Amino acid sequence: MIYERVALIGLGLIAGSMSLAARRAELAGEIVGTARSAETRAIAKEINLVDRIVGTAAEAVKDADLIVLAVPVGAMGMVAEEIGPHLKRGATVTDVGSVKRHVIETVTPHLPDGVHFIPGHPIAGTEHSGPRSGFAELFDNRWTLLIEGDETDQDALARLRKFWEKMGANVGIMEKDRHDLVLAVTSHAPHLIAYTMVGVADDLQRVTDSEVINYSAAGFRDFTRIAASDPTMWRDVFLTNRDATLEILGRFTEELFALQRAIRTGDGEHLHDYFTRTRAVRRGIIEAGQDTEAPNFGRGQKKV
Ligand code: NAP
Repeated sequence: MIYERVALIGLGLIAGSMSLAARRAELAGEIVGTARSAETRAIAKEINLVDRIVGTAAEAVKDADLIVLAVPVGAMGMVAEEIGPHLKRGATVTDVGSVKRHVIETVTPHLPDGVHFIPGHPIAGTEHSGPRSGFAELFDNRWTLLIEGDETDQDALARLRKFWEKMGANVGIMEKDRHDLVLAVTSHAPHLIAYTMVGVADDLQRVTDSEVINYSAAGFRDFTRIAASDPTMWRDVFLTNRDATLEILGRFTEELFALQRAIRTGDGEHLHDYFTRTRAVRRGIIEAGQDTEAPNFGRGQKKV
C-alpha cells in the first residue's frame, strides 16, 4: 500500500481507470470518490468504481493522503478553492489535466501551507468519457509526466512516482512550460486538425454523408475517432494552452502551404522527401513501444 486514503475528484475515464489500476496493485487502503452530478455518482456506485462515494469534494478530501483532481482543466481552480480548507496537513494534491501552467496557476493559490502539490498528466486516453469508460490497463506502458518545480517536496514526488509506476505507467519528470509545448505538438494541435478535417467533410455538400461513412479510408477514420473526444475537455485544453497551441498551428500552416505549393507546381521531390522524413517519426514511435505495427493499428485486439 502506498497511500492510506486516496480521494478522486471527478469520476470519468482517467479517475475511473486510476481507481481500477490502484485496486489491481493494492496501492490504497481506501479509495473515496466524488463527481459533480448525482447521475455520475450513482453509476459509479452501481459499478463499484471506488470504495466509497460522497456528495462533495470537500467531504471526499477529509483525511485523504492523496487527492487527485480529475476534472476538466477549466474546473480545476474551482475544485481547489472548494477543497483547500479541508485538506490534511502533509497530504499530496495532484491532478491529471492535459495542460500544466494554467492548472498550476489556478490551483496553487488555494492550497494551504503543509500540503504538497505535484501536478501530473498521464499520456494515455481514449475518445470515451464518463464513469463507465475506465479500465485498469489504461496506463500500462504509457507515460505519465509529473511536474517538478523549485519547491517540490522530493519525498512526496518519489511516493507519487511509485504510485504511478505501480499502476503500470512509465514516469517522466518535466518542467511545466516544456510540458505544454511538447503536448501542443504531440496532442493538442493534432486534435484540432482532426476536428477540422471531420468538420470539413461534414460541411462538404458534394460528398454525401453515406459516402463519407461507407468509404472512409484509414486516414479519415482515425481523424473521426480523435474528433469524437469530449468537447468540454478539449475546449478547455485550447483555451488554457493558447500560446503553445497557436505557435504550433502557425508552423503547421506554413508547412501545409509549402506542401500545397509542391502539389500545385508538381514538385514530387519535395513531397517524397517530406513523407520519407515523417515515416521515420512513425518508426521511432513503434520502436519505443508506444504503438503497434499491426494492420489497422491493432484495432479489435486491444481497447485503446
Ligand atoms: P471525463 O470522463 O469527462 O470525466 C470528467 C469528470 O469531471 C466527471 O466526473 C465530471 O462529473 C467531472 N466534472 C466535469 N466538470 C466539472 C466541474 N465543473 N466541476 C466539478 N466536476 C466536474 O474526463 P476525463 O477524460 O477523465 O478527463 C479528466 C481530466 O483528465 C481532464 O483534465 C483531461 O484534460 C485529463 N486527461 C484526459 C485524457 C483523455 O484522453 N480523456 C487523457 C489525459 C488527461 P460529471 O460526470 O458529474 O459531470
